[in-house]
Amino acid sequence: MTYTVPHFVGGQKISGGERTSEVLNPSTGKVQGAVPLASAQEVDEAIANAAEAQLGWAKTNPQKRIRVIMKWIQLINENIDDIATTLSLEHGKTFEDAKGDIIRGIDVLEFSLGAPHLLKGEYTTSAGTGIDVYSMRQPLGVVAGITPFNFPAMIPLWKAGPALACGNAFVLKPSERDPSVPVRLAELFIEAGGPAGVFNVVHGDKTAVDAILDSDTIQAVGFVGSTPIAQYIYERCAATGKRAQCFGGAKNHALILPDADMDQVVDALIGAAYGSAGERCMAISVAVPVGEETANELRKKLEERIPELKVGHSLDPQASYGPVVAKSALERIHSLIGEGEQAGAELVIDGRSAGATDEEFNGESLKDGFFIAPTLFDHVTPEMSIYTEEIFGPVLTIVRAETFEDAIKLPTEHAYGNGVAIFTRNGGAAREFAERVQVGMVGINVPIPVPIAYHTFGGWKASGFGDLNQHGPDSFRFYTKTKTVTSRWPSGDATGADFAMPQMD
Ligand code: NAD
Repeated sequence: MTYTVPHFVGGQKISGGERTSEVLNPSTGKVQGAVPLASAQEVDEAIANAAEAQLGWAKTNPQKRIRVIMKWIQLINENIDDIATTLSLEHGKTFEDAKGDIIRGIDVLEFSLGAPHLLKGEYTTSAGTGIDVYSMRQPLGVVAGITPFNFPAMIPLWKAGPALACGNAFVLKPSERDPSVPVRLAELFIEAGGPAGVFNVVHGDKTAVDAILDSDTIQAVGFVGSTPIAQYIYERCAATGKRAQCFGGAKNHALILPDADMDQVVDALIGAAYGSAGERCMAISVAVPVGEETANELRKKLEERIPELKVGHSLDPQASYGPVVAKSALERIHSLIGEGEQAGAELVIDGRSAGATDEEFNGESLKDGFFIAPTLFDHVTPEMSIYTEEIFGPVLTIVRAETFEDAIKLPTEHAYGNGVAIFTRNGGAAREFAERVQVGMVGINVPIPVPIAYHTFGGWKASGFGDLNQHGPDSFRFYTKTKTVTSRWPSGDATGADFAMPQMD
């Protein structure tokens, strides 16, 4: 039985046109559904619907808006197991990991409950004689989110929560690879009392994205995905005068100093490199041990631990991680592993053949699933493509460094700058590292330093275009514009026209 995922516009599920894309179950490789790919006209209709609904939503006081979000949080929590199952079956991440995807999204909805406080303006009395100055934050209008496949709940919620709390209407163009969860989230928003048309989901490919970028109504675009598309969207938004924040790919390093707790390091690296099949923008893909002794010990422990991992169906509770999202992703990972071998890196553990399996899960064959077992390279050097490119698969590379200075240079000089970690017991070294490294998010003995919802999330260099981060206070700045009013009331003592710039005295 296959299903068709609807668009969600004006508070209703609506079917799309003829153009569709397959929705696969990555664990079996089988087609399980279809998703419509919207035409420009369908996108325009959704945007027009949102524009109408936004006027009333913006007038609703912020406390009433956040009551809807409070109820929305409750409904998502009540339905979390069903949503996580759908997410797992379309994405391929394990059920527990899928729950984490949803919960880290809810975190940002919870932060957004602070909207009445965060939207308060500023006021200066008597800035000049009889003059008061105040500023207010107003919603932008209709804003759009364009999101990737790898966090189909978390990232749409990171965008929708603050955008809606600020009084905007939101049009989401989620990934066409795992489209069901965003529709369910929008549906629950309406069930929570959100007005129809305030949160719309339109599926599609480049045609739908370009319609968003060309729309005169859309005021801001929040994008997350690969770097080439992030840059394209950022440039096109600049050309059409839209506010944009566009987050791209990553290559996250973990430095391991000789005094690190090696058992803690190995636990951290195994989870951060192989969890979710390495399909996280904060996955660690480069381990940088400092000194030969550290490198040898790290490699030995990784070699002992990696074979214990189990790759399986995403709903298999025994699985450490599931398949990658698509056959094309699997082929790309295989090809990069081949390039690494050819370039002279040592392929210590090759996950390629071990990925194929004759097993079954709940009576379903896994032989066509997109599986790849954990892969480990040693003696990788900075000019190799397995170092320069984002692999986005369960591949960990070891780049050996002689000194701290050699090690810090690697993430600092890499084109990407999303996340980075350092493992050490030396507070001074950790502090210096955090201060000097040219990367947006830093972990100290923490491998995946995704900031909590009330701080902000954003990478540097090719990992992020735009000056404001996601969630935290930045999101309230991104989704509002500031209006500043300078006021004076007639006092009856006119002093004549002023031809010089007014000075506040
Ligand atoms: P992607 O760039 O292929 O797709 C992202 C979105 O852009 C999707 O909605 C897709 O439909 C759309 N899109 C794809 N091709 C397009 C085109 N030619 N023109 C217009 N729109 C297009 O990314 P993905 O494969 O879905 O996600 C994985 C990538 O996202 C990785 O590079 C990962 O590092 C990155 N990512 C980054 C962050 C971050 O915060 N920096 C977070 C999660 C994922």
